[in-house]
Amino acid sequence: MTLFHLFYSCIAAAALAGAFILIIHMNRRRIRQQPPGGNWTAILKRNLPMFEHLTGEQRTRLYGMMHLFLARKKFEGCGGQEITEEIKVTIAAQACLLLIGHKTKAYPRLKTILVYPHAYQSGQKGLFGGDNGQSARLGESWNSGVVVLAWDSVLGGARNILDGHNVTLHEFAHQLDQEDGAADGAPILAQRTAYVDWARVFRQEYTELVDKTRRGRKSTLDRYGATNPAEFFAVATETFFEKPHQLKSRHPELYAELQDYYRLDPGNWQEP
Ligand SMILES: [Zn+2]
Repeated sequence: MTLFHLFYSCIAAAALAGAFILIIHMNRRRIRQQPPGGNWTAILKRNLPMFEHLTGEQRTRLYGMMHLFLARKKFEGCGGQEITEEIKVTIAAQACLLLIGHKTKAYPRLKTILVYPHAYQSGQKGLFGGDNGQSARLGESWNSGVVVLAWDSVLGGARNILDGHNVTLHEFAHQLDQEDGAADGAPILAQRTAYVDWARVFRQEYTELVDKTRRGRKSTLDRYGATNPAEFFAVATETFFEKPHQLKSRHPELYAELQDYYRLDPGNWQEP
């Protein structure tokens, strides 16, 4: 092959790759621009009180991300659980709530959501320090592209937006953390320079929670966050969305980091 042919072969390959990326991008945009499904709004009003407080723009973004999520992820019922539209919409909405401020893709590494009716026994060694033996679980997030959830806990967590506990937000925060391949409590940040402040604030807050837990003292953050840095990020995410005012007043730096990352202020969705 002459240099001339090599040059034009490279140009053609680059053009082909560019066209392919453009088609993927256009397809993603087409999916996101579809109107919400017929029953979505009724399901969300019934199961997700947070939905009522979103702005019109946030609702539009939520619907778009839900379309992407539902088009690409497979739901499987386990333990006799039937997969219904209500289950898919309630899980997709909470998963996508984490994305509406800052993401254009919906969990690219995630393939399957397994749904049990209730707490289930898991023999899998949890990625975040689970037991080797059988243990009861409400949810799990696997690095291999699987999220496991107990439906009654999903529903209970969605309907109570003030207790700081939400298994769906928790497990999908783990998915965000795992996007770079490491479950270490640091998701992919928009700018490299942001990791310095993130590491400083999260190390400080995690150490404080570990110390408080050891001494039996209470915190706005659930003590489960003291398990390891990955659990701390997942618990901090639950608290950020469900107890925004308490988190902001008692842990302002942590709140500011999460606000920057999610590009959302859940404090606007609740009375102080
Ligand atoms: Zn966890």
